[in-house]
Amino acid sequence: MRPPMKPLKPLDDALADLLGHATPLAGADTVTTFDADGRVLAQDCTSVLQVPPQDNSAMDGYAVRCADVAAVGVELPVSQRIAAGSAGEPLQPGTAARIFTGAPVPAGADAILMQEDCNALEDGRVRINAVPRPGQWIRRAGEDITRGAVVLQAGTRLTPAELGLAASIGMHQLQVARRPRVALFSTGDELVMPGDVPPAQMRPGAIYNSNRFFLRAMLLRLGCEVTDFGIVPDRRDTTIDALRQASNVHDLILTSGGVSVGEEDHIKPAVETLGTLDLWQIAMKPGKPFAYGQIPRDNGRAHFMGLPGNPVSSFLTFALLVRPFVLRLQGVHSVAPQTIAARADFTWAKADKRREFLRVRHNAAGGLDLFNNQSSGVLTSAAWGDGVVDNPAGQTIAAGDTVRFIAFSELLS
Ligand code: AMP
Ligand code: MG
Repeated sequence: MRPPMKPLKPLDDALADLLGHATPLAGADTVTTFDADGRVLAQDCTSVLQVPPQDNSAMDGYAVRCADVAAVGVELPVSQRIAAGSAGEPLQPGTAARIFTGAPVPAGADAILMQEDCNALEDGRVRINAVPRPGQWIRRAGEDITRGAVVLQAGTRLTPAELGLAASIGMHQLQVARRPRVALFSTGDELVMPGDVPPAQMRPGAIYNSNRFFLRAMLLRLGCEVTDFGIVPDRRDTTIDALRQASNVHDLILTSGGVSVGEEDHIKPAVETLGTLDLWQIAMKPGKPFAYGQIPRDNGRAHFMGLPGNPVSSFLTFALLVRPFVLRLQGVHSVAPQTIAARADFTWAKADKRREFLRVRHNAAGGLDLFNNQSSGVLTSAAWGDGVVDNPAGQTIAAGDTVRFIAFSELLS
Protein backbone atom coordinates (compact mmCIF):
# COMPACT_ATOMS: atom_id res chain seq x y z
CA MET A 1 0.00 0.00 0.00
CA ARG A 2 1.25 3.52 -0.77
CA PRO A 3 2.02 5.70 2.24
CA PRO A 4 -0.49 8.53 2.77
CA MET A 5 0.32 11.65 0.69
CA LYS A 6 2.20 14.31 2.61
CA PRO A 7 0.61 17.75 2.27
CA LEU A 8 2.30 19.85 -0.40
CA LYS A 9 4.80 22.37 0.87
CA PRO A 10 4.30 25.96 -0.35
CA LEU A 11 7.26 27.13 -2.44
CA ASP A 12 7.83 30.16 -0.21
CA ASP A 13 8.06 27.89 2.86
CA ALA A 14 10.56 25.65 1.07
CA LEU A 15 12.67 28.67 0.14
CA ALA A 16 12.51 30.07 3.69
CA ASP A 17 13.62 26.69 5.09
CA LEU A 18 16.52 26.50 2.65
CA LEU A 19 17.66 30.04 3.31
CA GLY A 20 17.53 29.26 7.02
CA HIS A 21 20.32 26.74 6.37
CA ALA A 22 22.32 29.01 4.05
CA THR A 23 24.88 30.42 6.48
CA PRO A 24 27.26 32.58 4.42
CA LEU A 25 30.55 30.82 3.79
CA ALA A 26 33.54 31.84 5.89
CA GLY A 27 36.55 33.27 4.11
CA ALA A 28 36.95 35.87 1.40
CA ASP A 29 39.15 36.21 -1.67
CA THR A 30 41.01 39.31 -2.70
CA VAL A 31 40.73 39.76 -6.45
CA THR A 32 41.66 42.57 -8.81
CA THR A 33 38.75 44.79 -9.73
CA PHE A 34 39.22 43.55 -13.30
CA ASP A 35 38.42 40.00 -12.17
CA ALA A 36 35.51 40.79 -9.86
CA ASP A 37 32.62 40.66 -12.35
CA GLY A 38 29.86 38.41 -10.99
CA ARG A 39 31.52 38.02 -7.58
CA VAL A 40 29.84 39.12 -4.35
CA LEU A 41 31.45 41.93 -2.35
CA ALA A 42 32.62 40.93 1.12
CA GLN A 43 33.38 44.55 2.14
CA ASP A 44 31.72 47.95 1.97
CA CYS A 45 33.43 50.25 -0.53
CA THR A 46 33.66 53.72 1.00
CA SER A 47 34.97 56.66 -0.97
CA VAL A 48 37.82 58.69 0.51
CA LEU A 49 37.47 61.25 -2.28
CA GLN A 50 34.75 63.01 -4.21
CA VAL A 51 33.95 62.14 -7.81
CA PRO A 52 34.47 64.18 -9.91
CA PRO A 53 37.36 65.47 -7.80
CA GLN A 54 36.77 69.10 -8.85
CA ASP A 55 34.34 71.20 -10.91
CA ASN A 56 35.09 70.42 -14.54
CA SER A 57 33.89 71.28 -17.99
CA ALA A 58 31.20 69.20 -19.69
CA MET A 59 32.09 70.67 -23.11
CA ASP A 60 34.89 71.73 -25.35
CA GLY A 61 34.65 75.53 -25.36
CA TYR A 62 35.48 78.56 -23.22
CA ALA A 63 35.31 79.24 -19.49
CA VAL A 64 34.11 82.75 -18.62
CA ARG A 65 32.71 84.91 -15.86
CA CYS A 66 29.05 85.58 -16.67
CA ALA A 67 29.54 89.18 -15.51
CA ASP A 68 31.91 89.67 -18.48
CA VAL A 69 29.35 88.44 -21.02
CA ALA A 70 26.24 90.51 -20.47
CA ALA A 71 25.27 90.58 -24.16
CA VAL A 72 25.74 88.62 -27.36
CA GLY A 73 28.83 89.60 -29.37
CA VAL A 74 31.27 90.32 -26.53
CA GLU A 75 34.90 89.70 -27.56
CA LEU A 76 37.38 88.55 -24.87
CA PRO A 77 41.11 87.85 -24.93
CA VAL A 78 41.95 84.18 -24.35
CA SER A 79 44.21 84.19 -21.30
CA GLN A 80 44.98 80.45 -20.98
CA ARG A 81 44.35 77.00 -22.38
CA ILE A 82 43.25 74.18 -20.03
CA ALA A 83 43.22 70.62 -21.34
CA ALA A 84 41.88 67.60 -19.42
CA GLY A 85 44.58 66.54 -16.97
CA SER A 86 46.00 70.01 -16.39
CA ALA A 87 45.01 72.41 -13.62
CA GLY A 88 44.98 75.94 -15.07
CA GLU A 89 45.28 79.29 -13.27
CA PRO A 90 42.54 81.45 -11.74
CA LEU A 91 40.67 83.22 -14.55
CA GLN A 92 41.71 86.86 -14.97
CA PRO A 93 38.64 89.12 -15.05
CA GLY A 94 37.71 90.26 -18.55
CA THR A 95 39.23 87.18 -20.24
CA ALA A 96 38.13 83.72 -21.35
CA ALA A 97 39.98 80.40 -20.94
CA ARG A 98 40.03 77.88 -23.74
CA ILE A 99 38.86 74.65 -22.04
CA PHE A 100 38.21 71.03 -22.99
CA THR A 101 35.83 68.37 -21.72
CA GLY A 102 36.87 67.06 -18.31
CA ALA A 103 39.35 69.89 -17.62
CA PRO A 104 39.03 71.62 -14.23
CA VAL A 105 37.07 74.86 -14.31
CA PRO A 106 39.48 77.68 -13.34
CA ALA A 107 38.76 79.61 -10.14
CA GLY A 108 36.64 82.65 -10.89
CA ALA A 109 34.92 81.18 -13.95
CA ASP A 110 31.22 80.46 -13.45
CA ALA A 111 30.07 79.16 -16.85
CA ILE A 112 31.30 77.26 -19.89
CA LEU A 113 30.34 78.24 -23.42
CA MET A 114 30.39 75.42 -25.91
CA GLN A 115 32.69 76.14 -28.82
CA GLU A 116 29.74 76.04 -31.24
CA ASP A 117 28.56 79.31 -29.61
CA CYS A 118 31.93 81.04 -30.09
CA ASN A 119 34.20 82.26 -32.92
CA ALA A 120 37.96 82.18 -32.44
CA LEU A 121 39.18 85.48 -33.97
CA GLU A 122 42.39 86.00 -36.00
CA ASP A 123 43.90 88.18 -33.28
CA GLY A 124 43.60 85.41 -30.64
CA ARG A 125 40.47 86.76 -28.98
CA VAL A 126 37.14 84.91 -28.89
CA ARG A 127 33.75 86.31 -29.92
CA ILE A 128 30.91 84.96 -27.82
CA ASN A 129 27.57 84.53 -29.55
CA ALA A 130 25.40 83.48 -26.62
CA VAL A 131 24.72 84.85 -23.14
CA PRO A 132 25.77 82.20 -20.59
CA ARG A 133 23.66 81.09 -17.67
CA PRO A 134 25.63 80.83 -14.39
CA GLY A 135 26.79 77.24 -13.89
CA GLN A 136 26.09 76.04 -17.41
CA TRP A 137 28.12 73.06 -18.67
CA ILE A 138 29.92 72.72 -15.36
CA ARG A 139 30.00 69.25 -13.81
CA ARG A 140 30.18 69.81 -10.06
CA ALA A 141 32.76 68.26 -7.78
CA GLY A 142 31.19 65.34 -5.93
CA GLU A 143 28.03 65.26 -8.06
CA ASP A 144 28.56 61.51 -8.63
CA ILE A 145 30.11 60.49 -5.30
CA THR A 146 30.64 62.48 -2.10
CA ARG A 147 33.57 61.88 0.24
CA GLY A 148 32.68 59.24 2.85
CA ALA A 149 29.83 57.76 0.81
CA VAL A 150 29.38 53.98 0.86
CA VAL A 151 29.42 53.45 -2.88
CA LEU A 152 28.92 49.68 -2.81
CA GLN A 153 27.74 47.56 0.09
CA ALA A 154 28.95 44.16 1.22
CA GLY A 155 26.60 41.55 -0.24
CA THR A 156 26.36 43.28 -3.62
CA ARG A 157 26.77 41.04 -6.63
CA LEU A 158 29.11 42.95 -8.89
CA THR A 159 28.18 43.87 -12.45
CA PRO A 160 30.29 45.74 -15.00
CA ALA A 161 28.99 49.18 -13.98
CA GLU A 162 29.93 48.46 -10.38
CA LEU A 163 33.48 47.50 -11.33
CA GLY A 164 33.78 50.91 -12.96
CA LEU A 165 32.30 52.57 -9.89
CA ALA A 166 34.81 50.84 -7.59
CA ALA A 167 37.63 51.87 -9.91
CA SER A 168 36.36 55.48 -9.89
CA ILE A 169 37.11 55.69 -6.17
CA GLY A 170 40.57 54.22 -6.65
CA MET A 171 39.94 50.58 -5.67
CA HIS A 172 42.14 48.30 -7.75
CA GLN A 173 41.30 45.19 -5.77
CA LEU A 174 38.25 43.99 -3.88
CA GLN A 175 37.39 41.54 -1.14
CA VAL A 176 34.80 39.10 -2.44
CA ALA A 177 33.07 36.03 -1.00
CA ARG A 178 34.85 32.82 -1.80
CA ARG A 179 33.34 30.72 -4.53
CA PRO A 180 30.95 27.99 -3.29
CA ARG A 181 32.31 24.55 -4.14
CA VAL A 182 29.58 22.46 -5.68
CA ALA A 183 29.61 18.77 -6.59
CA LEU A 184 27.23 17.85 -9.38
CA PHE A 185 25.81 14.35 -9.78
CA SER A 186 23.28 12.93 -12.21
CA THR A 187 21.28 9.79 -11.52
CA GLY A 188 19.41 7.47 -13.81
CA ASP A 189 20.37 4.35 -15.73
CA GLU A 190 18.73 5.75 -18.84
CA LEU A 191 21.21 8.61 -19.09
CA VAL A 192 23.95 8.73 -21.69
CA MET A 193 26.48 11.52 -22.09
CA PRO A 194 26.43 13.19 -25.48
CA GLY A 195 29.66 12.25 -27.17
CA ASP A 196 29.76 8.79 -25.57
CA VAL A 197 27.17 7.28 -27.91
CA PRO A 198 26.15 8.77 -31.27
CA PRO A 199 22.42 9.42 -31.72
CA ALA A 200 22.01 6.59 -34.24
CA GLN A 201 23.35 4.05 -31.76
CA MET A 202 21.31 4.99 -28.70
CA ARG A 203 19.76 1.88 -27.19
CA PRO A 204 15.98 1.84 -26.66
CA GLY A 205 15.06 3.72 -23.49
CA ALA A 206 18.29 5.69 -23.40
CA ILE A 207 18.25 9.51 -23.37
CA TYR A 208 20.99 12.06 -23.34
CA ASN A 209 21.87 13.76 -20.07
CA SER A 210 20.70 17.29 -20.68
CA ASN A 211 20.29 18.44 -17.08
CA ARG A 212 24.00 18.21 -16.40
CA PHE A 213 24.67 20.85 -19.04
CA PHE A 214 22.29 23.56 -17.86
CA LEU A 215 22.90 22.88 -14.17
CA ARG A 216 26.64 23.21 -14.63
CA ALA A 217 26.21 26.40 -16.67
CA MET A 218 23.86 27.95 -14.11
CA LEU A 219 26.25 27.11 -11.26
CA LEU A 220 29.18 28.66 -13.10
CA ARG A 221 27.17 31.81 -13.76
CA LEU A 222 26.51 32.05 -10.03
CA GLY A 223 30.23 32.04 -9.33
CA CYS A 224 30.52 28.43 -8.15
CA GLU A 225 33.47 26.10 -8.59
CA VAL A 226 31.88 22.96 -10.02
CA THR A 227 33.18 19.41 -9.72
CA ASP A 228 31.26 17.20 -12.08
CA PHE A 229 30.97 13.64 -10.77
CA GLY A 230 29.05 12.57 -13.86
CA ILE A 231 26.39 9.90 -13.78
CA VAL A 232 26.35 8.04 -10.47
CA PRO A 233 26.93 4.32 -10.96
CA ASP A 234 23.96 2.23 -10.04
CA ARG A 235 25.41 0.66 -6.88
CA ARG A 236 24.83 1.55 -3.26
CA ASP A 237 28.44 1.26 -2.06
CA THR A 238 29.98 3.28 -4.88
CA THR A 239 27.28 5.95 -4.44
CA ILE A 240 28.05 6.22 -0.73
CA ASP A 241 31.77 6.47 -1.46
CA ALA A 242 31.24 9.18 -4.05
CA LEU A 243 28.98 11.20 -1.76
CA ARG A 244 31.35 10.86 1.21
CA GLN A 245 34.26 12.01 -0.90
CA ALA A 246 32.27 14.91 -2.30
CA SER A 247 31.01 16.02 1.11
CA ASN A 248 34.55 16.44 2.44
CA VAL A 249 35.50 19.22 0.07
CA HIS A 250 32.24 20.71 -1.20
CA ASP A 251 29.77 23.16 0.28
CA LEU A 252 26.88 21.75 -1.71
CA ILE A 253 26.16 18.45 -3.42
CA LEU A 254 23.58 18.82 -6.16
CA THR A 255 21.89 15.93 -7.93
CA SER A 256 19.14 15.63 -10.46
CA GLY A 257 16.76 12.73 -10.77
CA GLY A 258 15.62 10.10 -8.35
CA VAL A 259 13.72 12.20 -5.84
CA SER A 260 10.26 11.16 -6.98
CA VAL A 261 8.15 9.22 -4.48
CA GLY A 262 8.87 5.51 -4.58
CA GLU A 263 11.90 5.88 -6.83
CA GLU A 264 14.52 3.16 -6.63
CA ASP A 265 17.59 5.35 -6.99
CA HIS A 266 20.58 4.97 -4.72
CA ILE A 267 21.16 8.60 -3.91
CA LYS A 268 18.38 8.86 -1.35
CA PRO A 269 19.39 5.90 0.88
CA ALA A 270 23.05 6.80 0.40
CA VAL A 271 22.53 10.33 1.74
CA GLU A 272 20.48 8.92 4.62
CA THR A 273 23.33 6.54 5.46
CA LEU A 274 25.79 9.44 5.69
CA GLY A 275 23.56 12.19 7.07
CA THR A 276 20.00 13.45 6.96
CA LEU A 277 17.56 13.93 4.12
CA ASP A 278 14.12 15.51 3.85
CA LEU A 279 11.99 14.76 0.81
CA TRP A 280 9.59 17.55 0.02
CA GLN A 281 6.56 17.68 -2.22
CA ILE A 282 6.52 21.32 -3.23
CA ALA A 283 3.32 22.97 -4.42
CA MET A 284 4.86 24.14 -7.68
CA LYS A 285 4.49 23.04 -11.26
CA PRO A 286 6.68 21.94 -12.89
CA GLY A 287 8.94 20.67 -10.13
CA LYS A 288 7.12 18.98 -7.27
CA PRO A 289 9.75 16.66 -5.75
CA PHE A 290 12.78 18.20 -4.08
CA ALA A 291 15.19 16.94 -1.43
CA TYR A 292 17.29 18.82 1.09
CA GLY A 293 19.78 17.17 3.38
CA GLN A 294 23.08 17.53 5.14
CA ILE A 295 26.13 15.30 5.27
CA PRO A 296 28.28 15.97 8.35
CA ARG A 297 32.07 16.09 8.14
CA ASP A 298 34.88 16.96 10.55
CA ASN A 299 34.62 20.72 10.22
CA GLY A 300 30.90 21.18 9.61
CA ARG A 301 28.63 19.75 6.95
CA ALA A 302 27.95 19.70 3.24
CA HIS A 303 24.50 20.71 2.07
CA PHE A 304 22.68 18.28 -0.19
CA MET A 305 20.00 19.18 -2.72
CA GLY A 306 18.20 16.74 -4.96
CA LEU A 307 16.34 18.13 -7.94
CA PRO A 308 13.67 16.36 -9.96
CA GLY A 309 14.86 14.68 -13.14
CA ASN A 310 12.39 16.11 -15.62
CA PRO A 311 14.41 18.79 -17.38
CA VAL A 312 12.04 21.74 -16.93
CA SER A 313 11.41 20.75 -13.31
CA SER A 314 15.13 20.59 -12.73
CA PHE A 315 15.65 23.92 -14.46
CA LEU A 316 12.97 25.76 -12.48
CA THR A 317 13.67 24.24 -9.07
CA PHE A 318 17.26 25.26 -9.61
CA ALA A 319 16.26 28.80 -10.59
CA LEU A 320 13.76 29.28 -7.76
CA LEU A 321 15.40 27.36 -4.90
CA VAL A 322 19.06 26.52 -5.53
CA ARG A 323 20.00 29.88 -7.04
CA PRO A 324 18.86 31.95 -4.03
CA PHE A 325 20.57 29.45 -1.71
CA VAL A 326 23.88 29.67 -3.58
CA LEU A 327 23.70 33.47 -3.63
CA ARG A 328 23.01 33.59 0.10
CA LEU A 329 26.03 31.32 0.73
CA GLN A 330 28.01 34.16 -0.84
CA GLY A 331 26.37 36.76 1.40
CA VAL A 332 23.84 38.24 -1.03
CA HIS A 333 20.98 39.80 0.98
CA SER A 334 18.34 40.23 -1.66
CA VAL A 335 17.95 36.90 -3.44
CA ALA A 336 14.32 37.12 -4.59
CA PRO A 337 13.82 37.54 -8.33
CA GLN A 338 12.05 40.70 -9.44
CA THR A 339 8.44 40.09 -10.52
CA ILE A 340 6.85 42.57 -12.91
CA ALA A 341 3.28 43.08 -14.08
CA ALA A 342 2.70 42.07 -17.70
CA ARG A 343 -0.21 41.48 -20.06
CA ALA A 344 -1.12 37.93 -21.02
CA ASP A 345 -1.87 37.60 -24.73
CA PHE A 346 -3.03 34.03 -24.17
CA THR A 347 -5.61 32.09 -22.23
CA TRP A 348 -4.93 29.45 -19.61
CA ALA A 349 -8.19 27.75 -18.99
CA LYS A 350 -7.18 24.96 -16.64
CA ALA A 351 -6.40 26.11 -13.11
CA ASP A 352 -4.02 23.87 -11.18
CA LYS A 353 -3.85 23.01 -7.48
CA ARG A 354 -0.20 24.03 -7.55
CA ARG A 355 1.42 27.40 -8.24
CA GLU A 356 2.49 27.23 -11.86
CA PHE A 357 5.44 28.67 -13.73
CA LEU A 358 4.41 29.00 -17.36
CA ARG A 359 7.09 29.49 -20.00
CA VAL A 360 6.28 32.62 -21.97
CA ARG A 361 7.93 35.12 -24.25
CA HIS A 362 7.39 38.81 -24.96
CA ASN A 363 5.82 39.70 -28.28
CA ALA A 364 6.28 42.92 -30.24
CA ALA A 365 2.95 44.28 -28.96
CA GLY A 366 4.27 44.29 -25.39
CA GLY A 367 2.29 41.26 -24.23
CA LEU A 368 3.26 37.70 -23.39
CA ASP A 369 2.82 34.65 -25.61
CA LEU A 370 2.62 31.17 -24.13
CA PHE A 371 4.70 28.22 -25.32
CA ASN A 372 2.34 25.63 -26.74
CA ASN A 373 3.60 22.71 -24.65
CA GLN A 374 4.00 23.26 -20.91
CA SER A 375 5.04 19.69 -20.08
CA SER A 376 7.82 19.35 -17.52
CA GLY A 377 9.79 17.25 -19.97
CA VAL A 378 9.77 19.77 -22.81
CA LEU A 379 12.98 21.73 -22.46
CA THR A 380 12.26 23.57 -25.71
CA SER A 381 9.82 25.70 -23.69
CA ALA A 382 12.66 27.07 -21.57
CA ALA A 383 14.89 27.76 -24.56
CA TRP A 384 12.01 29.44 -26.44
CA GLY A 385 10.81 31.56 -23.52
CA ASP A 386 12.31 34.70 -22.05
CA GLY A 387 10.76 34.08 -18.66
CA VAL A 388 7.90 32.58 -16.71
CA VAL A 389 4.49 33.68 -15.54
CA ASP A 390 4.20 33.03 -11.81
CA ASN A 391 0.56 31.91 -11.73
CA PRO A 392 -1.06 31.37 -8.32
CA ALA A 393 -2.71 28.04 -7.52
CA GLY A 394 -6.30 27.80 -8.70
CA GLN A 395 -5.95 30.69 -11.15
CA THR A 396 -7.08 30.73 -14.78
CA ILE A 397 -5.84 33.39 -17.17
CA ALA A 398 -7.86 35.22 -19.84
CA ALA A 399 -6.26 37.14 -22.68
CA GLY A 400 -5.66 40.72 -21.54
CA ASP A 401 -5.25 39.79 -17.86
CA THR A 402 -2.38 41.26 -15.89
CA VAL A 403 -0.04 38.49 -14.76
CA ARG A 404 3.20 38.33 -12.80
CA PHE A 405 6.24 37.86 -15.03
CA ILE A 406 9.74 36.81 -13.95
CA ALA A 407 12.39 37.33 -16.63
CA PHE A 408 14.99 34.62 -17.18
CA SER A 409 17.57 37.38 -16.73
CA GLU A 410 16.39 37.39 -13.07
CA LEU A 411 16.58 33.63 -12.72
CA LEU A 412 19.63 32.59 -14.71
CA SER A 413 22.16 35.34 -14.15
P1 AMP B 1 13.31 11.06 -12.17
O1 AMP B 1 13.18 12.34 -11.42
O2 AMP B 1 14.60 10.38 -11.94
O3 AMP B 1 12.13 10.16 -11.90
O4 AMP B 1 13.26 11.43 -13.70
C1 AMP B 1 12.14 12.01 -14.29
C2 AMP B 1 12.33 12.12 -15.78
O5 AMP B 1 13.44 12.96 -16.05
C3 AMP B 1 12.63 10.81 -16.48
O6 AMP B 1 11.96 10.82 -17.70
C4 AMP B 1 14.12 10.86 -16.66
O7 AMP B 1 14.52 10.08 -17.76
C5 AMP B 1 14.37 12.32 -16.90
N1 AMP B 1 15.72 12.68 -16.50
C6 AMP B 1 16.30 12.42 -15.31
N2 AMP B 1 17.55 12.89 -15.26
C7 AMP B 1 17.77 13.50 -16.45
C8 AMP B 1 18.88 14.18 -17.02
N3 AMP B 1 20.03 14.34 -16.32
N4 AMP B 1 18.76 14.66 -18.28
C9 AMP B 1 17.61 14.52 -18.95
N5 AMP B 1 16.53 13.90 -18.47
C10 AMP B 1 16.59 13.38 -17.24
MG1 MG C 1 15.57 8.66 -12.39
